[in-house]
Amino acid sequence: MDTSSTGHALVLGASMAGLLTARVLSKHFDHVTIVERDPVPDQPEARKGQPQTRHLHGLLASGLEIMTRYYPDLPEALAAGGALVSDMTANMCWYTYGGYRRRFTMGREAALMSRPFLEHLIRQRTLARNNVTLLEHCATRGLVTGDDRRRVTGARVEHRGAQPMEATLDADLVVDCTGRGSQTPQWLFALGYPAPAQSEVKVNVGYATRLYRRDPDDPRGQDWLLYTPEAPGESRFGGMFPIEGGRWIVSLGGWAGDHAPTDEQGFLEYARGLPMPEIYALISRAEPLSDIIPHKFPSSLRRHYERLTRFPEGYLVLGDAVCSFNPTYGQGMTSAAMQVAALDELLTLRAGRLDGLAPVFFKQAAQVIDTPWQLAVGEDFRFPDTTGPKPPGVDLLNRYVAAVHRATLVDPVVGAAFIQVMNLLAPPSSLLTPGMLLRVWRANRQRSRLLMREAELAA
Ligand SMILES: Cc1cc2nc3c(=O)[nH]c(=O)nc-3n(C[C@H](O)[C@H](O)[C@H](O)COP(=O)(O)OP(=O)(O)OC[C@H]3O[C@@H](n4cnc5c(N)ncnc54)[C@H](O)[C@@H]3O)c2cc1C
Repeated sequence: MDTSSTGHALVLGASMAGLLTARVLSKHFDHVTIVERDPVPDQPEARKGQPQTRHLHGLLASGLEIMTRYYPDLPEALAAGGALVSDMTANMCWYTYGGYRRRFTMGREAALMSRPFLEHLIRQRTLARNNVTLLEHCATRGLVTGDDRRRVTGARVEHRGAQPMEATLDADLVVDCTGRGSQTPQWLFALGYPAPAQSEVKVNVGYATRLYRRDPDDPRGQDWLLYTPEAPGESRFGGMFPIEGGRWIVSLGGWAGDHAPTDEQGFLEYARGLPMPEIYALISRAEPLSDIIPHKFPSSLRRHYERLTRFPEGYLVLGDAVCSFNPTYGQGMTSAAMQVAALDELLTLRAGRLDGLAPVFFKQAAQVIDTPWQLAVGEDFRFPDTTGPKPPGVDLLNRYVAAVHRATLVDPVVGAAFIQVMNLLAPPSSLLTPGMLLRVWRANRQRSRLLMREAELAA
C-alpha cells in the first residue's frame, strides 16, 4: 500500500524537537497530534521530563534562522519578552586559552534566554496552528503495526490523569521525539527489528546552575560571559547569560567529574577559582533568585539509524532521541531544527510520499549530525579521561584547533571564521583553507611576541 502525507501524523514528545516537528508536519498532514508524558503548563516553566531546561541555554545563529523560517515573529517575540537577540559576537566576553577572544560583528543574530521561555514561544505558535493538537499527561507505551509488522500504524498511549486509561492512536506517520531516553531501540527489538548501533563518548560533565537578579543600570548586563578551558590542563567552565525578567543565568561546571559544588560557599569559591574574574565579581554581589541546581551529563550518545538495513515504514526518530551532544557546545536545539528542516524539504520533494522515507531521512539527518558531532567529540578528546570511539586524526586536528583558539585572541578574522563554525553556519573545513592557516600562524606568532614582551616588562 502506498501512503502519502495527507492523513494523521503523531509526534511523541512535546519538547523542542517535538514542537518543531509538529510545526513542519502541519504543512504536510491534515492533522498532527503531539503526545507528551508530562502535564504541560501554559507558561515558561521547566517540566519533569526535561530537567536540562533549568540550565544555561543559548540558541545558535543557524538554529534561530531555521526557527524564524517557521515562526517569523520569533526574534521580535523573544526580544519583547526580554531575551537578548543580537549579533552575539558584539556582546561577547569569552575567556579561553589565557585571554579574551577579540570582539567583532558577525552580521548574524543568535539568542540568549531561558530555555523554558524559548520553548513557551515555540509551543504557543505550534499549538496556534489549527490542525495541531496536544495530548498532555499522556505517555507512549509502544508502537502499533499491521500483522506483517512492516508498517507502524500508530502508538499505544496511557492517559495519566485521575483515571488512567490506555488507548491506541492511529497515524500515517509516527515520529519519536522523546529525547535521549527514547525507547525506540527496545520497541524495534520487540517487533523483530534490529536496534541501531550506538556511539557513546563518555565525558562526565556536570552543571550547577543558579539565577541572579541583574542590575538594570550595570552596562555589563548586556554582555554574555563565558569561560571555556584549555584542556588538558584545565577542565572547568563558567557561563553567565543575561535572560528575560532582568535575570542572569549562571552555570558552572566541568569535565571528568570536576563538577561545581551546589552549596553557596562552594559555588562561589568555584567561580572565584576560574581564570576569568568577571563571573565571580558579578555573582558575589548579585541577589540569588533560585537554589543551585545540579545536572550530570555522562556521555554524548549517537544512535546510528542511518546504518540499519531494516526499519518499519511510517516511523521516524528525531532530535536528542537520535543524538544527544555534550551540552557545553550549545548545539542540541539547532541540530534538532536542522533535522526538522531536512524532513520538511524531503516531504516537499517527495510530494508527501511516505514509502521509503525513513532510510532517506536518516541518511540526511546523519549528515546534519556529523558536523556538530565532530566538533563536540573532537573537543572532548582534549580531555584525557574522555573515552569512546575516537575519530582518526583527532589529536593532530586538535593541535591545530588549539592554535585557532589562540589566534582568536588577536585576530578577529580568525575569530569570525571560528564562531561561524561553532554556530554551524560554516563547515569545519573553512578553518583549513591556506589563507586561514597563514592567518592562524601569523596570529600565534604575534601572540607569542606579545606574551614575551609582557614577561620582559614584568621581570
Ligand atoms: C545541561 C544542558 C544544557 C544544554 N544547553 C543547550 C544549549 O545551550 N543550546 C542548545 O541548543 N542545546 C542545549 N542543550 C541540549 C538541548 O536541551 C536538547 O538538545 C533539546 O532539549 C532536545 O530536545 P528533544 O525534544 O529532542 O528532547 P527533550 O528536550 O529531552 O524532550 C523529550 C520530551 O519527550 C517527552 N517524553 C519522554 N518519554 C515520553 C513518552 N514515553 N511519551 C510521551 N512523551 C515522552 C519528555 O517529557 C520531553 O518533553 C543542553 C542540554 C543540557 C543537558
